[in-house]
Amino acid sequence: MMKAAMLYGVKDLRVEDVDVPGVGIGEVLVKIKAATTCGTDVKIYQRGYVEKIIKLPTIFGHEWAGEVVEVGGNLDWPKKGMRVRAGNSAPCLHCNMCQKGKYNLCENMIWLWGAYAEYIKVPARTVLVNMQEIPSHVSFEEAAITEPLACVLHGVEEANVKLGDTVVVIGAGPIGLLHLLTVKKMGAEKVVVIDLVDERLSVAKELGADETINAGKENAVEKVQQLTGGYGADIVIEAIGSPVTWEQALRLARKGGTVLEFGGCPPGTEIKLNTEMLHYGELTVLGAFHTTPLHFRKALNLISSRTVDVRPLVTKRMRLEDIKQAFEILSTSKNEIKIAIAP
Ligand SMILES: [Zn+2]
Ligand SMILES: [Zn+2]
Repeated sequence: MMKAAMLYGVKDLRVEDVDVPGVGIGEVLVKIKAATTCGTDVKIYQRGYVEKIIKLPTIFGHEWAGEVVEVGGNLDWPKKGMRVRAGNSAPCLHCNMCQKGKYNLCENMIWLWGAYAEYIKVPARTVLVNMQEIPSHVSFEEAAITEPLACVLHGVEEANVKLGDTVVVIGAGPIGLLHLLTVKKMGAEKVVVIDLVDERLSVAKELGADETINAGKENAVEKVQQLTGGYGADIVIEAIGSPVTWEQALRLARKGGTVLEFGGCPPGTEIKLNTEMLHYGELTVLGAFHTTPLHFRKALNLISSRTVDVRPLVTKRMRLEDIKQAFEILSTSKNEIKIAIAP
């Protein structure tokens, strides 16, 4: 038996004893050493999610790293005892979307949940396309953050951030801060971070934001105009997932600029788009969903070389037994960025 945090429904998360999963051909059993909380997890905990991606009840959590304890038949890699991480998705490589190279939109994606537990069984396809060994100097916590960084890398590549760009990031949560760290390394000249919580904005400042705006106290559109000589930003990244900020993002970009609508909004929501902005203003508006195995690899390499140093994002550590409390903290206070959960 093992301890696992089972999600039954909205705000219904229970730590229970469940069977340790058996390992079949091509599968791998990993002892989890660290799992990290994610904005997506908080959303699912608070309001539920798309059933295609998560079927309840299930063991919760998707960012983890650990040690291989059992290797199924027909595999000569990984080895028992190896420190590994795996992505929470594995594309099929042969559907229409995969054939177009859009692996993040795979029509037969396998999703892997189960980070908040003592052990996780990694499916054969995931072992094959989306598992990596963790270099010895990288902590399990850092390695667990590969997933959100991979999503961010996919997004900023789509948005085509260039040397010298002014970038506005809406949202100073874990995803907004990862965007900040990444676009800085890509050569953004000025990064402006917008949020409603001063504590989060000061973290953004510490992590390299050139300017911060508290949108509850200041008019963000006016302030961005001011900071960009009246033009607006080259790139605007929405990292919250609300129709209000999706629309705000459109008003922060310059003519010919790019808006990356990164945060997933609640199902059924819509936004208004000014046609003149798109036509005369040549605004590019992009969505970005999830990521690809390629980006997972790239993300772990960037974490490993500390090109993107994700260590400051873990602001609290808690035990698996206290997982419910961890999610209550993340739902009610904005002071913690990511909580690392140790089984
Ligand atoms: Zn995540
Ligand atoms: Zn596919």
